[in-house]
Amino acid sequence: MTTSTTPVSDQVVGHVFTRTGRRPDSTPIVLGPDGVHYAAGERRTQIDPRYGVLRVRMTGSLERGERLLGTFDPELQWTAMAELQCANCGRPAEPADGGNLWVIPRPRIYSLSETAHLDTTTPPVCSPACLRQCLYGCPVLRDGQIILRAQSAVPIGILGVVYDSITGRPVSTEQHLDHVAFTDDDRLDLTVAHFLTRRLRHMTEVPLTCLDILSAP
Ligand SMILES: [Zn+2]
Repeated sequence: MTTSTTPVSDQVVGHVFTRTGRRPDSTPIVLGPDGVHYAAGERRTQIDPRYGVLRVRMTGSLERGERLLGTFDPELQWTAMAELQCANCGRPAEPADGGNLWVIPRPRIYSLSETAHLDTTTPPVCSPACLRQCLYGCPVLRDGQIILRAQSAVPIGILGVVYDSITGRPVSTEQHLDHVAFTDDDRLDLTVAHFLTRRLRHMTEVPLTCLDILSAP
């Protein structure tokens, strides 16, 4: 993911990208006895019921405005990642033999044989056609990508803005979000989550030629 702000048409990139006019709610974040929350309310009523974290609230239309290339919308990314919906079309990404199909920025490794897992905030894709569209529309993926099927994709944490437990001030920014694992007891309650992260395991790299995609357009 990048912070590119280049607007493009709906035909070019997928539905997880944010739109012009979308921005985090300006309601202050306050520090309470059980963690951070939005002012004028209680943390227990604001946290995500499935993951127990406070998620960033977004304002602005999800239907109007131009898509911003390469920049995920927190609301759309979260739903797509939590429900394993296609990053490009939003439909359920049904797993085939070998698991769900993923196209993610190529990590700094030579090959999958060098690692047991990859962590990603990029949701899966449902088909070679949507994968091709992602390669065409996303500059980050065009720069370097790895295509794989993964038999396991467990949610492991969040990317978000972490707040100091004493001062209540943010220690990360929306431009440089921190990764906080669901096992991180100290910081999880102090974080406003933007993106959900999954850990891919039991991976098989898929050559473009196996998907009837000879090369990235
Ligand atoms: Zn799709």
